[in-house]
Amino acid sequence: MTGCLFCRIVSKEISSQIVYEDDRCVAFEDLNPQAPIHILVVPRKHLDSLTHATTADRNLLAHLLLTVNQLAKEKGVVDMGYRTVINTGLMGGQTVYHLHLHLLAGRPMRWPPG
Ligand code: AMP
Ligand code: ZN
Repeated sequence: MTGCLFCRIVSKEISSQIVYEDDRCVAFEDLNPQAPIHILVVPRKHLDSLTHATTADRNLLAHLLLTVNQLAKEKGVVDMGYRTVINTGLMGGQTVYHLHLHLLAGRPMRWPPG
């Protein structure tokens, strides 16, 4: 989608620190990390947010979660634990309107979240 920041990262029009990619998603380092490990997993397909996913995206959503799982294993944070976040919409704190999963790890996470 023209003008979408994450579409431009996916197409490599904008550079990022890519840690993993396949035919359905790209994972890269968050520019403003909120934890020692902060990776974003984004689908190549543009979806504004989780709300915009449909049953047709069922396998894609599963793939994104399993990619977080795989990256957590590769980063060696499974034993210590990690957090997966999907901010959705204004009150959900979403700032980039291309669906993305945050993988946060390397420090204790608080609850409730801010
Ligand atoms: P959210 O607030 O859930 O929409 O998350 C958007 C995330 O994108 C934030 O954590 C930002 O730090 C991150 N971000 C914004 N621009 C870039 C960029 N060019 N490269 C990597 N991460 C970015
Ligand atoms: Zn996009």
